[in-house]
This record gives sequence, structure tokens and C-alpha cells, in this order.
Amino acid sequence: KQYNEIKQKYPDSILLFRMGDFYETFNEDAVKTSKIIGIVLTKRANGHASEVKLAGFPYHSLDIYLPQLVAAGNKVAICEQIENANDVKGIVKRKVVEVVTPGSITLDNTLQNKTNKYMATIFKEKNITGYCIFEPSTGQFLIGECLEKELTNNLNKYYPDEVIINKKTVYSLEKWFLELRPYVTQIENYKFSYENSYRELTEHMSVKTLKGFGVENFKLGIVAAGTLICYLKDTLNNNISHITKIEPILSDKYMSMDISTIKNLEIFNSLSSSGVHGTLVNSIDFTSTPGGARLLRHWLLHPQKNISIIKERLRVVSYFKNNKTILKNLRIDLKQTCDSERILGKINKENVNPKDILALGMTLILIEKWIKELSSIKDKSITNIISNFYNLNKLSSKITKVINVNCTSNIKSGNTINKNISKKLDGFKAISNDGKQWIENFQQTEIDRLSISSLKVGYNKIFGYYIDITKTNQHKVPENYIRKQTLVNSERYITEELKIHEEKVLEAEVEVQNIEHEIFTNLISSITECFFKIKENSFLFNNLDLLSSFSHLALIKNYVKPDVVSDSIIKLIDSRHPVVEDLLPTTDNFIPNNLIIDANSEQIQLITGPNMAGKSTYLRQVGIIVILAQIGCYIPAKYGKIGIVDRLFTRVGASDNLAGGESTFLVEMNEAANILNNATPNSLVLLDEIGRGTSTYDGLSIATAITEYIHNNKSIGSRTIFATHYHELTSLSKKLKRLMNYHIQVEEFEDKIVFLRKITKGTGDKSYGIQVGKMAGLPDKVINRAKEILLSYDSSPNNIVILKNKKMSHKEIIYDNIKEFIDEIDINNITPITALQRLNDIKKKINL
Ligand code: ATP
Repeated sequence: KQYNEIKQKYPDSILLFRMGDFYETFNEDAVKTSKIIGIVLTKRANGHASEVKLAGFPYHSLDIYLPQLVAAGNKVAICEQIENANDVKGIVKRKVVEVVTPGSITLDNTLQNKTNKYMATIFKEKNITGYCIFEPSTGQFLIGECLEKELTNNLNKYYPDEVIINKKTVYSLEKWFLELRPYVTQIENYKFSYENSYRELTEHMSVKTLKGFGVENFKLGIVAAGTLICYLKDTLNNNISHITKIEPILSDKYMSMDISTIKNLEIFNSLSSSGVHGTLVNSIDFTSTPGGARLLRHWLLHPQKNISIIKERLRVVSYFKNNKTILKNLRIDLKQTCDSERILGKINKENVNPKDILALGMTLILIEKWIKELSSIKDKSITNIISNFYNLNKLSSKITKVINVNCTSNIKSGNTINKNISKKLDGFKAISNDGKQWIENFQQTEIDRLSISSLKVGYNKIFGYYIDITKTNQHKVPENYIRKQTLVNSERYITEELKIHEEKVLEAEVEVQNIEHEIFTNLISSITECFFKIKENSFLFNNLDLLSSFSHLALIKNYVKPDVVSDSIIKLIDSRHPVVEDLLPTTDNFIPNNLIIDANSEQIQLITGPNMAGKSTYLRQVGIIVILAQIGCYIPAKYGKIGIVDRLFTRVGASDNLAGGESTFLVEMNEAANILNNATPNSLVLLDEIGRGTSTYDGLSIATAITEYIHNNKSIGSRTIFATHYHELTSLSKKLKRLMNYHIQVEEFEDKIVFLRKITKGTGDKSYGIQVGKMAGLPDKVINRAKEILLSYDSSPNNIVILKNKKMSHKEIIYDNIKEFIDEIDINNITPITALQRLNDIKKKINL
């Protein structure tokens, strides 16, 4: 009855029902649980009622099984016994203490150190969407608003594991769902209310208005945020006291990048393999702490547009780069620190252990050491960071004074608290130690007295301390020994004397555990009082870690400080691709390249060149260098002047989105449309082929029209690099005055080509596709036939069409076409009106 009552309240969750040392699941839940975690499903007839299926696991295995149940896409309600079973008669009271979802789970083994884990709520009205992003393990809480069409890109920056929406939303065809595939929770429509949400947020933050957080104007964002708070508190029973700050998501502050740009530049994921190998983040992440690594990922998704913030960061990087000893020592110490943000999250979830707290104390001490060390430095950028640290001297000394350096992660181990913290505790520890010492001595005395060298005093939970005597020595057992247990090779005994000492030891141990627990809990309360300050210090320390890691990166990989300016230009000397240069075999050198691009004079760079020449690499390296500069990192080049980019667009390669019902060419056109509709004179557009997914003439026409549009349309005018195999496009430089032709050099030697990888002004002559095919191992027959066919084609840009092996000019094609059209007319039967229409059609064709 009790189970059914509770289960009724959590119909969509697997209910883990605590029964003594086990969590049991019943019926449907048991079937699911046994399948997911591979435990036995049993059946039991329940009196006169029908058969009940059950599956359970020991309570201490929760950390192992809970993530598996949740990862399989389930909500799990954890129902605990909330009374001591020994103190009550009949059935103990039980209560669901927490509901765990894919987005809210924060057990250590479900978190990756270097990445954040997010939940999101969305609330839409007309074409505006409010959203809230929450990181359950650190308490990061963000509110934003955007146009509906921007939502997927914005959510993509956080990749939420769970999205909460109202019940009326049909989400299965929404773009964000198709792209991100999160776990979706739908809650009652009425819960999304502005008034309630505003009240929830102000009450939680203990403020009168939200103005101080800069989110007051995000009306829909507030609805999303307040609803999320209620969901966390009321539905999931989460403690949310670690949400100490609300931050606005101000998309204006950051360079915007759409999902395809993040994918194409391989910032976090490689296009060719899974994992981080071959990604930008893998090549540049030299952070020493998980918090610093998470911040790097955040910055890479949010490059700054504000020049003074970028310059301030670059100054810090410069300082550490020029002061190598300080940098080295700082990095050594950073490696000793713990993930304090996550430990604060564990304190909040009440699952923090003594080792965590000791690590936190040590980290706070190291932070203080560095505040002291750096505050003597006369560099303004460093003093600016240092001045924001809070002094937590008292707290760190308290932690390290109270917690024993040799503590374990188990608070019940009895060695968590140092000596001299509590006289009572020290007293009980002495009793327990004396008792244990007596038992040890007792073993030796009995060995000597009875002449049984194999006699052992052992301990188990059922019998307590016992004396173990092998079968062969049974004749020596004295009379005062009381037999307790018979094993295959030995008998176990107790004596009254042994039991008296055992009682003393056990009683003292219980006292030790209780007192240690009490002291530990008090210490946690002191830490909780400084929650906000510790969080701020951790955040600043993450900043120090990340910026100093940039200095380290610059030193070991020879990066330079970019000159960041507001003009719409980019100038690079000897720039490199940070990932490709890492991945090249040691025998190959990366060939650096220059770039000058200026929205007012050399706006569009049209790059032609053979396959495999390095066009895509060059294009992407420019995009990556801009991102690096705008996060405040040095860049792989000899010199770089970067004019702030407001939006970065890339269109690279061919991929489809079959799940979203989009063919390869439609994906390509979607990306192109996005660029043309959203690029500005301060944007950077990187086009690696366009129009290749359709027939040659359709593609060429689209590519030409797009290039003209970017050049001629004043509202776009973006800096653009366009790599293409359509050599015909190079003639555009005659018409478009800000379009410059570039090509990548190769040398042809007999039947082979040598890639020089140098980008130079002028047009490339051909694509050498057949040679590349040969390099790839196409059969000789195919290569030779391809060469034959190529010879029959005319590759000059003005005579572009070959039909039935005959070369034709553009004019000839039109006449040919019209002739065919006229031939089809039946002049004996045509009406005057149709004849007029046909005439009109012919006129149109001629104009074309
Ligand atoms: P395609 O037209 O066939 O797509 P591409 O011109 O875009 O070819 P990339 O994919 O950029 O060529 O480069 C091919 C390979 O050449 C890269 O994988 C890299 O190994 C090497 N490469 C590119 N640029 C350089 C460079 N500057 N220095 C050394 N190696 C390079």
C-alpha cells in the first residue's frame, strides 16, 4: 500500500524503494531495471494478490547503477526510509528524497572533469524564445532571450542533456531537438508563469528585483528560469543553494558562430574521427585544472567582441610569458588544486566527503599564496585580477586545522578529525586504541600461554572479536573459551574477558564516529557561509589558470600576440593551422602563409588551386586564428592584426541531415542562406566550395550570384575567403573590384605534382584532380580513360560547355535551345493566343 501510494506520485520515474540494505524495484520498473543493469528479475506471489515482479540491488551500489538507469533515458525517484527501523514498530516511513534525471545527475562518475553538464528550460512566445541554462554540479545559472531561429545555435553552445518545455509544445520536429537530441521533460503549461517565476527568483536570491543581475528585461527568460527553479526544488527535490548568481546571456557581447561553423572548424569534435584527437581544443588545452579546462571550452564558444577585454586578457598572457619562473611555479601549484566548483556542488548535494573538504582547504591555501605572490607585482593587468579575490584565510586555516591529512573519503573511518580539536573525541579515541592494543596483546599472550603459534584474533560484524584455532590444535583449547562458530579448518571462540574489551572498543568507536560527524558537519556549515566567496575565488583562479596556459602555449608552440583592432581587416604573416601543424609527421614542415583582407579594398579572396593543395586548411586556419585572438590567446603566426569579427560563418564540404529531412544540397543551401541573410560588414565568411552539390551549371550560377551579392550588397560587404574549383569564377575579378584572385602553388614534374602549399596572387590553371586520383590509387585504366576524356573538354572559362563531344559557346547553346523549342510547335493547330505566348517565351530565352 505504501509503495503504491508513493509510486502513484511518480508514475513516469523508476522508483528505487529502499528496503533495509537494498533498493527494490517492482513490476514494470523491475523489468526495466533488470534489463538495463543486468540483474535478476524475480517473481513473488503476494498473498491473494497477483504475482509481483521484483529486482533490487544493495544500497552501496547506487553510484554504479543510478547512472546506468539514467543514461538509458529514465527519470529515477529515490525513495528512502526516513525513520530508524529499530525505533519504530511496523512499517517505517518512506519518502522520495530526490528525483534524478539525465540533466540533473551529478555523481562523480557521471561528470567529465573538463566539460560542463547542462540542463535548459525553454519558453516561447510568438517568435521570441526565453531560455535558462543551469549547470547542476557547479550552480552556474544563466538567462537569455533570442529569436526563435537563433535558439538552436544558442543551445548548441551548452549542449544540454535535458531540456524542459511546456506540455503544449510538440518538439519532435523542432530544430533544437533534431540537432541536440536531449532528454525532454514536459511540464504543465500553467507552471510557466511570469509572476510566479519572478517571485521564485527574487525569493531564492533574497532580492527585491532582478535588476542587479542585468536580466530584468528578459521577460520570457525569467519565465524559463523561475520554472526551472520550481522544477528543481519541487519535482526533483534538489537543493539549489549553490545557485548564488544569475547571469545574463548577452549574445551581443560575443562573436556569433553557428553550429556548422563550430563543427567545420573542428573546435571540439573532429569531422573524421570521434573524440578530441585532431581538434582545436586538444591542440591548445594546456590548462592545469578542470575548472580552467571548462572555462577554455566556454571561451571558445564565446569569443569576445570587446577590444578592451581582449587586450586585458592578452596583457596577462604576456606577463606570464615574459616571467617564465613565475609561470612555471604557478602551473606546478595549479596542478595541486582540486575542482572547488564541483566540491561546492557536492556540499550542496550533501554528498561531500572528508577528502574533498581537505582538498578544498589545501586549494584555498594555494590561492592565498598566489594572491600574496602576485600582489607584489606592479603589472596593472595582474593587480586587476588579484584585487577581486576574497580573503578566505580564516576558513582555509580552520579546514586544515580540523581535517586530518590522512583522512579517507569515508566519514565513518574514524580518522577524519585531527587531535586537539575535541577533548571528548580524543578521550574516546584513546579508549578505542587502548582496547585494540589490549586485544593485540591478548593474541600474543594466548599464543604463548597455549603454545598455538597459528592462533589468531579476528573480527567480523556478526560475532565481533573472536579467537580462531585450527582443527589440529583443538585439544589445546582451554575451558574458559566459548565456541561460537565452526569452519572447515578451524573453530572460533570468544572469552568473557575478550567481550568486555570488545564492548569498550565498539562503544568508543560509535562515539568517535558521532563526534567526528558532528565536527565535520559544523565545518561544512562554516564553508557554506563562505559559498559565494569560494565560488568567486575559484572562478578567478580558473581565469589565472587559463590565461597562464595561453602563455605556456605561446612559449612552446611559438605563438605571437595579435594586434586586435576595430577596422574590418585581417593581416597575417606566416600564419599556421594550429591542429594541422601538430598532426603533420615530423618529416613534413607546415608551410606558413600570409593573408591581407580588408572590407574596403581587398574584400573577397577567391582561391583556386589543385585538390589537396591546402585550400581548406588555409581557410580554416584564418577562422581559428580569429577565434583565438578574440578569446585573448596568442596566435600561430609571426604577426597578426585582427579586426574584430562580429559573426563568423563557414560553409565547408558536403554533409546531409537525413534525420531532419535535408539532402546534402539543401544543407549546403541552408548554410549559404544563413550567411547571406545574417552577415554584416564586420563578419568573416569562409566558403569552401559552394554549389558543388548540384549540376555544374546550376552550381556555377549559384556560386557566381552569391559572390556578386556579398560584394555588391552594402549591408553584407563581409570579409570573405572563397576556395573553389570553379576556375570560371576567377573572371569575376574583372567585374568585382574588391575581389582578388589567389591560388595555391604546385609544381608539375613529369606525371606527378608537388604541392608547394604557398598562397600567391593570381589564378590557378587547373585542379589536377586526375593526378590526385592517381595518388589515391584509382586503377590505371580509369586514370587513362579520364585523361582521354579531359583532353576532349575545353577548360577555358569562356567556352564552358561540351555537348555530344562538340564544343559550344553560350550563344550557340541558346540558339540550339530555341530551335528545339520552335521545332516542337505544331503550326497547323496553334491558336493566336498560344502563338503570342510562345513568342514571349522565346523573347525571354534570348534575354537570358
Ligand atoms: P581539396 O580541394 O581536395 O579539398 P584542399 O586544397 O582543400 O583540397 P586541404 O584539405 O586543405 O587541401 O589540404 C590537404 C592536406 O595537405 C592537409 O590534410 C594537410 O596534411 C596538408 N597541408 C595543407 N596545408 C598545408 C601547409 N600549409 N603546410 C603543410 N601541409 C599542409
